[in-house]
Amino acid sequence: MGRIRILPDQVANKIAAGEVVERPASVVKELLENSLDAGATTVRVEVESGGRRLIRIVDDGCGMLRDDALLAFERHATSKLRDVKDLLSISTLGFRGEALPSIASVSRLLLETRAAEETTGTRIEIAGGKMLRCEEAALGGGTVITVRDLFYNVPARRKFLRTEPTELAHIASLVTHYSLAHPEKTFVLTSGPTELLHVTPVGSMKERVYQVFGSQVLDELVEIGTREREMFIPPPNVPASEAIAEYRRESTADDDPPTRLFRLSGFFSRPQVQKGNRNSIYIFVNGRLIRDRLLLHAISSAYHNLMPASSYPFALLFLQCDAEEVDVNVHPSKTEVRFRHGSFIHDFVRDTLRERLMESRPAPAFSPRTVEPAQQAARLPYSEFSQMLEDAAPTAPSMIEPAPATQPADPELPAFTLRPTAGPAPRLDFSAPPLEITPGPPPSGKLSRRLDAHGEFPPDAIPAPEASLSSLSDLRPLGQIHESFIIAVGRDGLWIIDQHVAHERILFEQVMKQRAAGRVEMQRLLMPLILQLTPEQQIDYARIADELNASGFETEPFGNRTIAVKAAPAHLSAAELDKILYEILEIAETELRGASLDELRRNICASIACRAAIKINMRLDTAKMEWLLRALAATDCPMSCPHGRPIAMHYSTRDILKGFHRI
Ligand code: ADP
Ligand code: MG
Repeated sequence: MGRIRILPDQVANKIAAGEVVERPASVVKELLENSLDAGATTVRVEVESGGRRLIRIVDDGCGMLRDDALLAFERHATSKLRDVKDLLSISTLGFRGEALPSIASVSRLLLETRAAEETTGTRIEIAGGKMLRCEEAALGGGTVITVRDLFYNVPARRKFLRTEPTELAHIASLVTHYSLAHPEKTFVLTSGPTELLHVTPVGSMKERVYQVFGSQVLDELVEIGTREREMFIPPPNVPASEAIAEYRRESTADDDPPTRLFRLSGFFSRPQVQKGNRNSIYIFVNGRLIRDRLLLHAISSAYHNLMPASSYPFALLFLQCDAEEVDVNVHPSKTEVRFRHGSFIHDFVRDTLRERLMESRPAPAFSPRTVEPAQQAARLPYSEFSQMLEDAAPTAPSMIEPAPATQPADPELPAFTLRPTAGPAPRLDFSAPPLEITPGPPPSGKLSRRLDAHGEFPPDAIPAPEASLSSLSDLRPLGQIHESFIIAVGRDGLWIIDQHVAHERILFEQVMKQRAAGRVEMQRLLMPLILQLTPEQQIDYARIADELNASGFETEPFGNRTIAVKAAPAHLSAAELDKILYEILEIAETELRGASLDELRRNICASIACRAAIKINMRLDTAKMEWLLRALAATDCPMSCPHGRPIAMHYSTRDILKGFHRI
């Protein structure tokens, strides 16, 4: 990093103005970013009282020369930006020279720093923006910034702070996630005497995820690896086709090729991890933690028809692109960015997540696993994901338990009800153990020796713990539970498959494919079905009539607020036609005003599939069950039904062995 200078007015004027320091976590964010920009390999964050009383960041970065240390507290003093042009391609986390003066004006700040090229360090003390002391000091290399009594001189701002645990949780979340972005560095976070996070350098992001969250979370995630997509950039005002031709002609020229490479890596959760808000989605763009509606939308659309629309996944995504592709100067706390080619990035992220979901076909496990504990910081409430993991096991609903007391109990059969075809399922706990296996206390030496006498389980029979729905095609069905759930076994353990949602997924993909090819299988009705519509429904009908026809419902207006249905998609029973048409009109009314045609189409297909699918409480013979498993294995997304419910649960051989204390 070069020397610090004060930005000339013409640059300073172009910098997004506003509040830099809103809460303790924003102080931590700015200071942490400075340490990372300074090339630190170890960053230690100490806080007291949720950061209200004390925030201290210790780094082993390049430190500051004495003159620079003084200059750093001037507004718009930065070593990271020189002229207006640089603003267009910023590769450092900081660039505006606002953080240190802003923080120093609302706290008691102590800076201790020494650059490698100086023999003594510098200590500067500032309170409420006033310099109290500046002296030479014998210090180690790197920088320590101590911020005490945040907002002590601005009581109005102090009032807006949340409770100490909440502020602490925000800080923990921040440090945790920066640590995930930099697996090669050491991060420590302490709150008073408690160490909340301590991670040492590791070789991969996966190892860092393991360090931070423990093994259980890792098991629930799909790793992206590194995916790339290249974009051709047409010069302004030239149609793309001409520009490509031009480029081909001139491709021997030395100019930079007019392409941009986008790279995505990270982790995201299986569809069964369903969270009520977006707090567990972390997006880094070129190492910067941001919030971005476009990317949030891309993530949600990747899970379309795999997860209920009101649920969100856990995601930890790292997008890399040329610095010119992102404008980071749009928000005072640098948490929002603007992409130059937003829709390209949106589609890249959506497609990549979807492809990975389809490739990995993750199956939810339903047995408790031996859990490597997460770091304390990851368990603070703000990191809701890990919180839910802890809550999940004891409260998970049991799917084969008798129905609650409100249901009249049949003395023969346990009353057994599921909402067979209702829309989105409630939030599901992905580790729900309907067959609870409690590992119990570890076996005594004597007992385990006796168990050993039963023989070792051949190690090659123990599959990797990662279950994939690809194994569905090799399963052998054994029977049904309550004539609703197929029990099947395979090399890698026991599976339970919900027959209704499995069939729903099969039909959904079939109908979608037919729809895309414009060849929907239809059946002609002997007598047209006449449906009465409300004025509202009439409006919605007019809007979606074409789509309805293309989906296999041949309908036409038939007098005042009445339509005649002459044909319907092949799989549907005529008795249910009115229900499904009203259902589709309702979808059109409630969710889909203003939504895309593609979403409407998917929802219509989902409704058809749901109505046509075999129901629960239906006996299936072995041949039917086998057919269902093969057909499910052949779908693109055997993980969830189009409304987002899980289809199959897996009880791995490894977990069975663990349950019987054989490994
Ligand atoms: P910015 O990060 O936008 O440049 P800041 O106000 O955050 O502005 O910091 C001002 C300058 O102080 C930085 O440009 C950098 O040169 C220097 N600085 C701040 N923190 C550190 C640190 N931990 N190590 C080395 N230099 C630092
Ligand atoms: Mg900074």
